[in-house]
Amino acid sequence: MADAGFIARSADWKMFLKDAFAPNLAKDRKLCYGRSTNNVEKGKYIMIVDLHTHSTASDGQYTPSELVRLAKDRGLEVLALTDHDTVGGLEEAAQAGDALGLRVLRGIELSAREYRSLHVLGYGVSTAPSALTRLCAEMKDGRDQRKYRIIDFLHEKGVDISLAEVEELAGGDVIGRPHFAQIMVRRGWVESSREAFDRYLDTDEYQSIERKKPDARACIEAICSAGGHAALAHPYQMRLEDGPLEELVKALAGWGLEAIECLYPRHTAEQQAFYLRLAKKYGLHVTGGSDFHGERVKPDVVLAALGLDVDWLLGE
Ligand SMILES: [Zn+2]
Ligand SMILES: [Zn+2]
Repeated sequence: MADAGFIARSADWKMFLKDAFAPNLAKDRKLCYGRSTNNVEKGKYIMIVDLHTHSTASDGQYTPSELVRLAKDRGLEVLALTDHDTVGGLEEAAQAGDALGLRVLRGIELSAREYRSLHVLGYGVSTAPSALTRLCAEMKDGRDQRKYRIIDFLHEKGVDISLAEVEELAGGDVIGRPHFAQIMVRRGWVESSREAFDRYLDTDEYQSIERKKPDARACIEAICSAGGHAALAHPYQMRLEDGPLEELVKALAGWGLEAIECLYPRHTAEQQAFYLRLAKKYGLHVTGGSDFHGERVKPDVVLAALGLDVDWLLGE
């Protein structure tokens, strides 16, 4: 009966979700029962996963190896590394996963143009040259140019921080807004990263200096070109009404989207229920993850330990 703990049945689903995002869940595998829902069909084999995380290859705090170590300590069985616009951390993560006996899914998170925070996750992507790696190179150029606009924008607002400091903190390939936010906290311009975003880096005015992004169809096609599976990330962040969101999901599904990230720490119970209904209606898989960046970047987000059916991602 060793496997019974992974079979989805019994237990209260809401409790399961509450616990799923609490620390140390995976240490007690009994909590990983989920009852039959739209999410996991009864009798499906579920694994303990977090399918949305970031490393220093983009704007996370931990290196890919450190992240894999944390996931292993957390008791996860599958970790997807989904850095923004780069596959740069994937080989290191995969090697660390091999060494520690943790399945690492090679992932990515792309930002699409149509809506603010329309993000497309890719899973099982190859790092060999493809339309995806070309897109990543274009995105890198876009970010490299954007960093100067962001620093000018902040200076205009009276926030006096230096780009050199931000670059030093970023270290890796990708310079993202969280890096600017952290330096703003460090220098005392704001109390938290969230405040940096709310007051400066995620305002309507900020959008005027945003980089050029591909449209969602191009994101999905790029992920498919690299042999990956595309999922819509954190739908709530687009702040769309139900109708327009459904229209969007329908269009994305037509372009090859395979899943919706229904399980996400900031989704309310109603939002999650709606996303689960959408997934069912359009024949999409259910994914979930924490969007873990490390406590220094997102202090309130811990690694998730979700019980999900991921056979379709593991190719088994
Ligand atoms: Zn995102
Ligand atoms: Zn993310």
